[in-house]
Amino acid sequence: MVRCTRCDLSLSRTKVVPGAGSQQAKLMLVGEAPGANEDRAGVPFVGASGKLLNAMLEKIGIAREDVFIANVVRCRPPENRNPKPQEIRACAGWLSEQIRLIQPRLVAPLGRYALEHFIAGGKITRLQGQVQRIDYAGASLSLFPLFHPAAVLRAPDRRPQYEEHFGRLGALLKKAK
Ligand code: SF4
Repeated sequence: MVRCTRCDLSLSRTKVVPGAGSQQAKLMLVGEAPGANEDRAGVPFVGASGKLLNAMLEKIGIAREDVFIANVVRCRPPENRNPKPQEIRACAGWLSEQIRLIQPRLVAPLGRYALEHFIAGGKITRLQGQVQRIDYAGASLSLFPLFHPAAVLRAPDRRPQYEEHFGRLGALLKKAK
Protein backbone atom coordinates (compact mmCIF):
# COMPACT_ATOMS: atom_id res chain seq x y z
CA MET A 1 0.00 0.00 0.00
CA VAL A 2 2.80 2.47 0.79
CA ARG A 3 3.86 2.47 -2.88
CA CYS A 4 0.31 2.57 -4.25
CA THR A 5 -0.19 4.46 -7.54
CA ARG A 6 -3.82 3.53 -8.15
CA CYS A 7 -4.83 7.21 -8.36
CA ASP A 8 -3.29 10.60 -9.06
CA LEU A 9 -3.02 11.50 -5.38
CA SER A 10 0.15 9.40 -5.49
CA LEU A 11 1.77 12.22 -7.52
CA SER A 12 1.50 14.89 -4.84
CA ARG A 13 1.65 13.00 -1.53
CA THR A 14 4.68 12.90 0.76
CA LYS A 15 3.70 9.68 2.53
CA VAL A 16 0.84 7.24 2.20
CA VAL A 17 -1.19 7.13 5.40
CA PRO A 18 -2.21 3.48 5.52
CA GLY A 19 -3.98 3.57 8.89
CA ALA A 20 -2.81 2.83 12.39
CA GLY A 21 -3.84 0.89 15.45
CA SER A 22 -4.63 -2.56 16.70
CA GLN A 23 -5.11 -5.47 14.32
CA GLN A 24 -7.53 -6.89 16.95
CA ALA A 25 -9.55 -3.68 17.25
CA LYS A 26 -13.23 -4.00 18.11
CA LEU A 27 -13.71 -0.45 16.80
CA MET A 28 -12.52 0.95 13.49
CA LEU A 29 -12.79 4.68 12.85
CA VAL A 30 -12.78 5.77 9.22
CA GLY A 31 -12.05 9.38 8.36
CA GLU A 32 -11.85 11.27 5.09
CA ALA A 33 -8.29 11.94 3.96
CA PRO A 34 -4.88 12.85 5.37
CA GLY A 35 -4.12 16.54 5.92
CA ALA A 36 -0.71 18.25 5.92
CA ASN A 37 0.41 16.85 9.30
CA GLU A 38 -0.67 13.34 8.43
CA ASP A 39 0.99 13.56 5.00
CA ARG A 40 4.31 14.40 6.70
CA ALA A 41 3.96 11.82 9.47
CA GLY A 42 2.34 8.95 7.56
CA VAL A 43 -0.04 8.56 10.51
CA PRO A 44 -3.78 9.40 10.55
CA PHE A 45 -5.36 12.06 12.77
CA VAL A 46 -2.28 13.69 14.27
CA GLY A 47 -3.50 17.32 14.07
CA ALA A 48 -6.30 19.17 15.86
CA SER A 49 -8.94 16.67 14.68
CA GLY A 50 -6.81 13.86 16.08
CA LYS A 51 -6.62 15.60 19.46
CA LEU A 52 -10.39 15.86 19.62
CA LEU A 53 -10.74 12.22 18.60
CA ASN A 54 -8.26 11.19 21.31
CA ALA A 55 -10.20 13.20 23.89
CA MET A 56 -13.48 11.54 22.87
CA LEU A 57 -11.93 8.06 23.08
CA GLU A 58 -10.38 8.87 26.45
CA LYS A 59 -13.80 9.96 27.73
CA ILE A 60 -15.22 6.50 27.01
CA GLY A 61 -12.17 4.72 28.41
CA ILE A 62 -10.71 3.48 25.15
CA ALA A 63 -7.01 3.87 24.36
CA ARG A 64 -6.25 5.06 20.85
CA GLU A 65 -3.85 2.11 20.42
CA ASP A 66 -6.77 -0.27 20.91
CA VAL A 67 -8.78 1.00 17.95
CA PHE A 68 -7.84 1.06 14.27
CA ILE A 69 -8.01 4.38 12.44
CA ALA A 70 -8.14 4.59 8.65
CA ASN A 71 -9.35 6.97 5.95
CA VAL A 72 -11.32 6.56 2.74
CA VAL A 73 -8.32 7.91 0.81
CA ARG A 74 -4.80 7.25 2.05
CA CYS A 75 -2.98 10.10 0.31
CA ARG A 76 -3.46 13.81 0.92
CA PRO A 77 -5.56 15.68 -1.65
CA PRO A 78 -3.66 18.84 -2.72
CA GLU A 79 -4.62 21.96 -0.69
CA ASN A 80 -6.81 19.69 1.46
CA ARG A 81 -9.54 19.72 -1.20
CA ASN A 82 -12.30 17.13 -0.91
CA PRO A 83 -11.43 13.70 -2.28
CA LYS A 84 -12.85 13.05 -5.77
CA PRO A 85 -15.20 10.12 -6.38
CA GLN A 86 -12.64 8.37 -8.60
CA GLU A 87 -10.00 8.67 -5.85
CA ILE A 88 -12.38 7.21 -3.27
CA ARG A 89 -13.22 4.38 -5.67
CA ALA A 90 -9.53 3.72 -6.36
CA CYS A 91 -8.77 3.50 -2.63
CA ALA A 92 -11.88 1.53 -1.62
CA GLY A 93 -10.20 -1.85 -2.01
CA TRP A 94 -7.60 -0.99 0.64
CA LEU A 95 -10.31 -0.14 3.15
CA SER A 96 -12.40 -3.23 2.49
CA GLU A 97 -9.27 -5.36 2.83
CA GLN A 98 -8.47 -3.79 6.22
CA ILE A 99 -12.03 -4.40 7.41
CA ARG A 100 -11.86 -8.01 6.20
CA LEU A 101 -8.58 -8.61 8.05
CA ILE A 102 -9.40 -6.81 11.31
CA GLN A 103 -13.09 -7.76 11.52
CA PRO A 104 -14.10 -4.96 13.90
CA ARG A 105 -17.40 -5.29 15.79
CA LEU A 106 -18.24 -1.69 14.92
CA VAL A 107 -17.06 0.69 12.22
CA ALA A 108 -17.56 4.42 12.80
CA PRO A 109 -17.46 6.40 9.55
CA LEU A 110 -16.48 9.97 10.42
CA GLY A 111 -18.27 12.46 8.19
CA ARG A 112 -20.01 12.32 4.85
CA TYR A 113 -17.20 11.00 2.65
CA ALA A 114 -16.58 8.04 4.92
CA LEU A 115 -20.31 7.37 5.26
CA GLU A 116 -20.71 7.46 1.45
CA HIS A 117 -18.23 4.59 1.15
CA PHE A 118 -20.62 2.38 3.14
CA ILE A 119 -24.06 3.84 2.38
CA ALA A 120 -24.42 5.56 -0.98
CA GLY A 121 -26.42 8.74 -0.52
CA GLY A 122 -26.41 8.37 3.30
CA LYS A 123 -26.73 11.66 5.14
CA ILE A 124 -24.44 12.03 8.13
CA THR A 125 -26.76 14.58 9.75
CA ARG A 126 -29.58 12.00 9.70
CA LEU A 127 -27.67 8.80 10.50
CA GLN A 128 -25.12 9.99 13.08
CA GLY A 129 -25.27 8.37 16.47
CA GLN A 130 -27.38 5.37 15.41
CA VAL A 131 -26.33 1.83 14.53
CA GLN A 132 -26.79 0.95 10.86
CA ARG A 133 -26.50 -2.68 9.82
CA ILE A 134 -25.38 -3.15 6.24
CA ASP A 135 -24.14 -5.86 3.89
CA TYR A 136 -20.53 -5.16 3.09
CA ALA A 137 -18.23 -7.24 0.93
CA GLY A 138 -20.41 -10.32 1.44
CA ALA A 139 -20.76 -9.99 5.22
CA SER A 140 -22.88 -8.11 7.73
CA LEU A 141 -21.30 -4.96 9.16
CA SER A 142 -22.45 -2.66 11.98
CA LEU A 143 -21.82 1.02 11.41
CA PHE A 144 -22.02 3.86 13.91
CA PRO A 145 -21.76 7.07 11.84
CA LEU A 146 -20.39 10.17 13.54
CA PHE A 147 -19.48 13.68 12.46
CA HIS A 148 -15.88 14.17 11.39
CA PRO A 149 -14.07 15.82 14.32
CA ALA A 150 -13.12 18.75 12.04
CA ALA A 151 -16.84 19.49 11.67
CA VAL A 152 -17.17 19.66 15.46
CA LEU A 153 -14.11 21.92 15.74
CA ARG A 154 -15.71 24.25 13.18
CA ALA A 155 -19.03 24.30 15.07
CA PRO A 156 -18.33 23.82 18.81
CA ASP A 157 -22.06 23.82 19.60
CA ARG A 158 -22.07 20.29 18.17
CA ARG A 159 -19.74 19.06 20.90
CA PRO A 160 -22.30 18.08 23.59
CA GLN A 161 -24.15 15.87 21.11
CA TYR A 162 -20.82 14.48 19.87
CA GLU A 163 -19.88 13.51 23.42
CA GLU A 164 -23.27 11.87 23.88
CA HIS A 165 -22.80 9.86 20.68
CA PHE A 166 -19.35 8.73 21.80
CA GLY A 167 -20.90 7.69 25.11
CA ARG A 168 -23.40 5.55 23.20
CA LEU A 169 -20.57 4.09 21.14
CA GLY A 170 -18.64 3.20 24.30
CA ALA A 171 -21.70 1.42 25.74
CA LEU A 172 -22.17 -0.57 22.53
CA LEU A 173 -18.53 -1.63 22.53
CA LYS A 174 -18.77 -2.83 26.12
CA LYS A 175 -21.64 -5.09 25.09
CA ALA A 176 -19.85 -6.37 21.97
CA LYS A 177 -18.00 -9.65 22.49
S1 SF4 B 1 -5.23 7.56 -2.34
FE1 SF4 B 1 -5.36 5.35 -2.14
S2 SF4 B 1 -5.62 4.60 -4.24
FE2 SF4 B 1 -4.83 6.69 -4.38
S3 SF4 B 1 -2.60 6.43 -4.53
FE3 SF4 B 1 -3.12 6.76 -2.35
S4 SF4 B 1 -3.31 4.69 -1.48
FE4 SF4 B 1 -3.42 4.50 -3.71
